[in-house]
Amino acid sequence: MKKFLLPIVFLIVHVSCKPQVEIIDKPIIFDEIRKELTLEYLEDHYGLVQDAPTIDPKMIVLHWTAIPTFEGSFDAFKNVKLPSWRPDLENASALNVSSQFLIDQDGTIYRLMPETTMARHVIGLNHTAIGVENVGGTEGKALTDAQLKSNIALVKYLTDKYNIDYLIGHYEYTKFENHPLWLEKDDGYRTSKTDPGEDFMQKIRQATENLNFKENP
Ligand SMILES: [Zn+2]
Repeated sequence: MKKFLLPIVFLIVHVSCKPQVEIIDKPIIFDEIRKELTLEYLEDHYGLVQDAPTIDPKMIVLHWTAIPTFEGSFDAFKNVKLPSWRPDLENASALNVSSQFLIDQDGTIYRLMPETTMARHVIGLNHTAIGVENVGGTEGKALTDAQLKSNIALVKYLTDKYNIDYLIGHYEYTKFENHPLWLEKDDGYRTSKTDPGEDFMQKIRQATENLNFKENP
């Protein structure tokens, strides 16, 4: 009887070490038009001519939406084309912004699109970056501890699944301008970002130290 016990103990330990994360699928619209706009974006901005709008994930970029509610945040990503109040981005492409994940203030993780489909969330790096948006970042709606925990769990889950080298906050993206991963062709296309806050990133980095991400350039 005893000889059966050891494998069972190993099995339990092994299973409990796997990153456990609950993800709810809540897809945004990804129709033929969004697919075509994404393929166009990949070619125009990165010189990548592809049949499918897929990415090779080597990076995770964390964000806040600067919108206080889940519904408002989801609606900002849902539609295929950029709304008319974003003329700053419209010149670069009509493709709406989005991200693969959106985390609500209570820590619930929603997957808005397949993990390896390109989302428009970070200039220069969309071809390789998985985006994680967090509801909040506005006056009176700071990111929460529940979101912090969920971001850590999601980062572990994604790092377990893909060869992720870098974990960055959106405000750090321009550090990659001379890096081989940076493919943006338009030198005039830049935005200034502060999300998801330095304090939030510091806490995430502390909690994911053992994942050994590469240093930012
Ligand atoms: Zn952002």
